[in-house]
Amino acid sequence: MTSSYRDALEHIRRAFPQPVSDPIHDSYFVHSIMRALDQVDALKMQLPTLGPVVSGDFAEAQNAELPAEMSSVEAVTSDLVGYLRGITISSHPHTQQNVIAPPTIPSLIGVLLASLHNPNIAWDEYSRLVALAEVESVAITARMVGYDPQQASGTFTFGGTGTTLYGVKIGLEKACPQAMQKGVSDDVVVLVSDAGHYCAHNIVGWLGIGTDQLIVIPTLAENEIDLAQLADAARAALGSGKKIAAIIATMGTTDAFGLDDLQAIVALRDSLVDEFQLSYRPHIHADSVIGWAWSVFNDYDFQDNPLEFRPRTLRALAGACRRIRHLALADSMGIDFHKTGFAPYISSLVLVKDRTNLQLLMRDPQQMPYLYHFGDHRPGMYTLETSRAGSGPLTALANFRFFGEQGLRVALGHIVEMTQLLREHLEGHEAITVLNRDNFGTVTLFRVYPPDVDTFAIKRQEFEDPAYRETLLAHNDYNRKIFDYVHAEAMAGRGVVISSTDCYRHTQYQEPIVALKSFIVSPFVDEKDVEVVVAKVLEAREKFV
Ligand SMILES: *Cc1c(COP(=O)(O)O)cnc(C)c1O
Repeated sequence: MTSSYRDALEHIRRAFPQPVSDPIHDSYFVHSIMRALDQVDALKMQLPTLGPVVSGDFAEAQNAELPAEMSSVEAVTSDLVGYLRGITISSHPHTQQNVIAPPTIPSLIGVLLASLHNPNIAWDEYSRLVALAEVESVAITARMVGYDPQQASGTFTFGGTGTTLYGVKIGLEKACPQAMQKGVSDDVVVLVSDAGHYCAHNIVGWLGIGTDQLIVIPTLAENEIDLAQLADAARAALGSGKKIAAIIATMGTTDAFGLDDLQAIVALRDSLVDEFQLSYRPHIHADSVIGWAWSVFNDYDFQDNPLEFRPRTLRALAGACRRIRHLALADSMGIDFHKTGFAPYISSLVLVKDRTNLQLLMRDPQQMPYLYHFGDHRPGMYTLETSRAGSGPLTALANFRFFGEQGLRVALGHIVEMTQLLREHLEGHEAITVLNRDNFGTVTLFRVYPPDVDTFAIKRQEFEDPAYRETLLAHNDYNRKIFDYVHAEAMAGRGVVISSTDCYRHTQYQEPIVALKSFIVSPFVDEKDVEVVVAKVLEAREKFV
């Protein structure tokens, strides 16, 4: 079949939203989206996944080829929807698996709008008021965490990892002026806790500092950095002539919501500056990609409790705020709206307390001859990225406007409340111990024991006493079996999808403690759903008696 390219071009033009208003074509566009949503909806069953889990044939996938002929919007839609089969529905009340946020409708509209006319927020010339949306999102977040929005600044970047990368890079420029131009020739270290995110390893590797220069400090029982060991390590590094590029304070660890004592870390930093007569202030970056959201409770009236949270919930919220309230002491921090802000990937923001810090990252305009000669707002002059999508700021702004302070308190308060309820129900059974019962976050780590185990004593015995090594390891296996059963049941539509960890902590004699893990992030979770977790775990236990 031959035809002129012009016929094909018409077909292609119909596959774009029309540049000039065309209501008939608009409804075709809307229907195309609706058709996609309908097909996704048709995959939903009772399961917390979009249909049964399908395992991908990754070897076969390498045979994929560019088709010779054109296709249609309709065919491609069905084709793409197929790739969603088996995906976990993060909003499902039976999903308690990980910190993967269910996105709101306003934030999804934000993604659509940011894609529709493809603003590039590197430069306001290419994004107009979408660039303004970034500045507003930055200001709202800065105010929320206690920064002065007139002094602070920030930029959306490629994930929580990107936020820490910016923080450490700024610190590196402070400790080693002009590292950007000259490279890193000094001996430089970065400090982080052993419960901090592994991205710290990547970052020091990619920045040329080297993973050998990352000093990993042990944590205390509540997963916060051991301050005494931090002080010793920092003094040892400075004493041997090394420089500190950054101390990363983890404000909400991924696995167990540990919160470092930022106030004490800042005090330590300040005293080190005097003690060693440093020519720079070691930079403190707060990895608060998870914990930032709790700042919405900083000025909640815990006394009157207008939202009527239960006492245990109040205690957990207040407990988190006692650390989060000091976030503004950090020189920079990371925020993931796609973790605890109900936005889709990627929506991550790095904030700096002092906007002049961003100048340390500025390039010489002569290196970018075709960009940024005019305009009012040119973050592309200091960002690592060149093109940046508008979706991060628009989704963040969408959720700020939709929830407001009250809505954020309700959404976060509810998942904390459900977590507290889960712990209460788990602890109601003799066979189960909650490992992180005093923790303030929405992740619960627990262990299940066979009959005849004194669960009131076992937690300490296993943790402290090497004589219990064999017992601990046997119970590790037992908990893996319980997890396998609960998981298989959930995948068959009976029960809740939770996860497990092979190492909640090490015992004092260096064996890993295996634990079951529930991570509640969906506002759809309710009391009956947390009861199902307990029922399923006990059912698994019955099977193995
Ligand atoms: C998830 C996480 C990161 C990495 O963030 P991404 O958005 O996945 O790149 C960094 N730090 C902490 C504490 C995290 O939980």
